[in-house]
Amino acid sequence: MPVMLETVKWSERRRRSAELAERWPFAAEVMAFYSSLLDVQETVFNETRERRPEARDVAGFAAEFAVPRVIEASIDRGPERLGAALIERFHEADIEEVIARWLGEGEISSVERYLARAAAGPILEALDQAAVGAATAGPRDERRCPACGGLPQFGYFAKSPEDLVTAHRYLECSRCAAAWPYTRMTCASCGEAETKNLAVYSELGSLEAELSGGTVKHLPGAGERPPVVAQLPQIRIDCCTTCRKYLLTIDLSRDGRAVPLVDELAALPLDLYAKDLGMTKITPNLMGF
Ligand SMILES: [Zn+2]
Ligand SMILES: [Zn+2]
Repeated sequence: MPVMLETVKWSERRRRSAELAERWPFAAEVMAFYSSLLDVQETVFNETRERRPEARDVAGFAAEFAVPRVIEASIDRGPERLGAALIERFHEADIEEVIARWLGEGEISSVERYLARAAAGPILEALDQAAVGAATAGPRDERRCPACGGLPQFGYFAKSPEDLVTAHRYLECSRCAAAWPYTRMTCASCGEAETKNLAVYSELGSLEAELSGGTVKHLPGAGERPPVVAQLPQIRIDCCTTCRKYLLTIDLSRDGRAVPLVDELAALPLDLYAKDLGMTKITPNLMGF
């Protein structure tokens, strides 16, 4: 990733979460909490750049430096239930072991996953690819992150004209935030490529040539009548009826101000819609959706 992008990454994420909190009332709470987490994550990222921990020390560094800060921000600004669960978890468990399990793809509860990801995610983002590879376990194939073996969190279409011509979709890793190109109309979970088994949904008011599933007629939580103008025109749901998995894809050519990582976290109505269809996200996002 270019150096320029690295330095503005955190301010871009903050800028976008403030923007979406204002634009989408349904996302205001999640975005407010995420903003305070971003401050902690940026501190962790910068500290990682300073200290350059060895791969074998990543879990220890996360437990010692990042976890206490994440817990504090989560108790202060997060949902009450999350705060209570973290207090309980923090006292009872060996946090370093939890982080190691997350890095190694062991069994993990949803609270543990949240804590490990919020704390260790920015560490992986700050390390170079060789260190990320050495610190993590998981299969490396076309549907897994080439750097760490993590599952894709979401897809996005880049906004540059050349990328549109080559029609590349990128998947972004749920663990280290690395991105890799992936075929447009192919399930990112099982590799299904038969068009009849793939369904794409977006909100009424969006226009999309590949829209095979149809429009989300009524956004859950949107009130009595669906809005005439789509609120989330840049986001679509990519579903697979073979494995019943989905992920969200953000189209940067439709909204150049979008930051896919942040837009994905804020798109709660689309997650509710996919759930109503009986679909499960390939892997839940940081906020558990
Ligand atoms: Zn990764
Ligand atoms: Zn599939």
